[in-house]
Amino acid sequence: RTVYVNGTYLPEHEATVSIFDRGFLMADGVYEVTSVLDGKLIDFDGHIKRLHRSLSELDMAAPCSDDELIAMHRELVRLNNIDQGMIYLQVTRGNPGDRSFVFPSADLPPTIVAFTQDIPNLADAPAAKTGFRVISIPDLRWDRRDIKTVQLLYPSMGKMAAKKAGVDDSWFVEDGAVTEGTSNNAYIVKGNRIITRALSTDILHGITRVAVLRFAAEAQFEVEERPFTIEEAQGADEAFSTAASIFVMPVVEIDGKPVGTGKPGPVAQRLRELYLDEMRKAAI
Ligand code: PLP
Repeated sequence: RTVYVNGTYLPEHEATVSIFDRGFLMADGVYEVTSVLDGKLIDFDGHIKRLHRSLSELDMAAPCSDDELIAMHRELVRLNNIDQGMIYLQVTRGNPGDRSFVFPSADLPPTIVAFTQDIPNLADAPAAKTGFRVISIPDLRWDRRDIKTVQLLYPSMGKMAAKKAGVDDSWFVEDGAVTEGTSNNAYIVKGNRIITRALSTDILHGITRVAVLRFAAEAQFEVEERPFTIEEAQGADEAFSTAASIFVMPVVEIDGKPVGTGKPGPVAQRLRELYLDEMRKAAI
């Protein structure tokens, strides 16, 4: 792979970052993951806007212009010949040359890295045909989940708990209600109604969520933004998750209980198709 580090494109084995980088020592950084379909960037505008929001919430300056970010993403797609896959972008507070809890001065250059992941069957992933089985676990993350930081230890533990249980993902539960999945937003379907938690500092403001709720409203579904419990989800007609990496993923089982028929439901499948069709058309 050819990767990007601080303005330079180079083979991955030549790419290095300092041991003093605050991303490495303090998880002091933010990231974005953009999907690529037909060699084009999906919803990149949304990812750039959220990147700016994450940076500003952490008092970090933008690492470069938006045009440079777009050009860099496109160049990585080109250099790595990506038709379908993902681009990971990470911006950390840089390398102050030592370890300290205090933020370095604002003029220290950030560290920007980006790389591609080649996933030839991203749009027709086999998992979308069978759906995810999930377990619920307590949400023990910090209280600013709206900032997309690289502090991903607890979500990794959630994925490992799922793996150990022989399922695909974990949904986090706090104060009796589902917050979101380890790396996706969570929804249930009851009749013509799509229910998902409202935006707050409790969850990441998914870029896919924005688009899916818009397509749902356009397709005459009712959208209700409120918390729901695991029991309500188990008794719903359907459940699903959304993220840039999985688009709309049916969820067919929660804590060992089938949701609806226990198979991917028509609403999740329709929203997945709508999302893929519309976003492919709008890709840049
Ligand atoms: N929630 C969490 C915790 C995530 O990590 C992610 C994406 O990685 C999402 C939700 C979905 O966000 P998006 O649709 O922007 O990928």
